[in-house]
Amino acid sequence: MLRAPVALFLIASNVLTAVPAAAQARATPASQLPSLGDGSSMTTSAERRLGERIAREIYRDPDYIDDPVLVEYVQGIWQRLLDAARQRGELTEELDQRFAWEVLMGADRTINAFALPGGYLGLHLGLIAVVEQPDELASVLGHELSHVTQRHISRMMESQSRQTPWMIGAMILGALALSKSPDASNALIVGGQAAAVQSQLNFSRDMEREADRIGYGVMTQAGYDPLGFVSMFEKLQQASRISDNGSFPYLRSHPLTTERIADMQLRQSQDDRSHPMAPNTMQAMMAARARVLGNPGVDLLRAWVSEAKSARPTGPAMDVRNAGVLYAGTLSALRQRDFAAARSLVVRLQALVAPDAAAARIAHLLAAEIEWGAGDLPATAALLDMNAPGRPELVLGSQVRTRMGQASEAIARLQPWVALHPRDGTAWQLLAAAYAAQGQTLRSIRAEAEMQVARLDYSGAMDRFRAAQDWVRKPPPGSGPVDDIEASIIDTRTRQIQALLKEQALDKQ
Ligand SMILES: [Zn+2]
Repeated sequence: MLRAPVALFLIASNVLTAVPAAAQARATPASQLPSLGDGSSMTTSAERRLGERIAREIYRDPDYIDDPVLVEYVQGIWQRLLDAARQRGELTEELDQRFAWEVLMGADRTINAFALPGGYLGLHLGLIAVVEQPDELASVLGHELSHVTQRHISRMMESQSRQTPWMIGAMILGALALSKSPDASNALIVGGQAAAVQSQLNFSRDMEREADRIGYGVMTQAGYDPLGFVSMFEKLQQASRISDNGSFPYLRSHPLTTERIADMQLRQSQDDRSHPMAPNTMQAMMAARARVLGNPGVDLLRAWVSEAKSARPTGPAMDVRNAGVLYAGTLSALRQRDFAAARSLVVRLQALVAPDAAAARIAHLLAAEIEWGAGDLPATAALLDMNAPGRPELVLGSQVRTRMGQASEAIARLQPWVALHPRDGTAWQLLAAAYAAQGQTLRSIRAEAEMQVARLDYSGAMDRFRAAQDWVRKPPPGSGPVDDIEASIIDTRTRQIQALLKEQALDKQ
């Protein structure tokens, strides 16, 4: 069992702990600052722009991971919670439209989830790895969602009137970076200064209790078992005990208070569902995937392969556990490029989960992933249902088709997808590759530009749009006539992105 370091949990406030001294010294006197909205609260668009600034850096972080399988799973839970919050009136129409409501995952083993300004949510693989029930994950996401819908972040910013939103963004980013490296944070978070900053930026106890209360309502309305809230709490307590050796200063101000736990137990006792939650095969497989993709190191990968090899069928309860063990072992073998072991383990996994259609699909995708990893394109294509509606099938299928000289089939699926999901940077990237394979250079450059827009890197996007405009002005010899419609789209998009860049520059002042 992996012992993930527990850095922080549940709140942006825990993330908002460390401020580099240099950043503090640069703080501008209050009289020179633009007001936060009308002075009473930060406007939703200002909060969204601040969120974008933070999200842009997360996209650039090498730990940022867009794993289609895990993203689809988490999105399934996240969307159900958003729907419930809409039904309950917690998520207003304005916030619904203005904010991103996007989950960004980090390949980090720490148990962490945090609400960011503007409806962005950070989620570390370490958290998915310790969860046993989707209901537990829903309880964490519901709590974070409620911090955002209750405007806790903007209320916190309000009390920070001496800092510009830009500064607060820098502080959050600094704290995020430090949270991943306990040693560095130890070196910097010393003395009373850190404590003072932390107390300035923490969500209040009342906010935590409110996020618990509303989050509980949202997750139960979405159909999740309220027991998930309680068992998640127990897990966190346990995890914090394991690592509370003084090396995690965040835990000392951890908001997991006895007050909150008492609230939680009261709420649960009032709920008539008190059955134990059934073990969940899908979650067991997702936790396994999160463990392996969290860069655990060679020794653990080897251990998981041998654990899977010795796993024996023992009965229904153990079957769920074994599904996780076999999944982790298969993916670990694949990561070590031991394709023979991966192939033999995945067959056992597929037999085990065959009766559960959703789990069987995930095992099937893993089998296709093995052949893709082994470079066997026909075998990957044979295993993969490339016309299935899911995003994992789209992402892997497009790559397979482009590599097999079927770029036009890849484009035929990707084009309608990006029209519906213009913020899917990965899909734009695949589309750029498919166009390039067809020799459609102009469209390929534009898709690259849109990929940068999706990742909120507007300067990077401008660079590609300008390259596209240059290409239109002076097409290379033999490239045929310029596509006028494409050229006019490029001009329009260039102007739009230029406007966004100007807006950004104003925020920095
Ligand atoms: Zn919280």
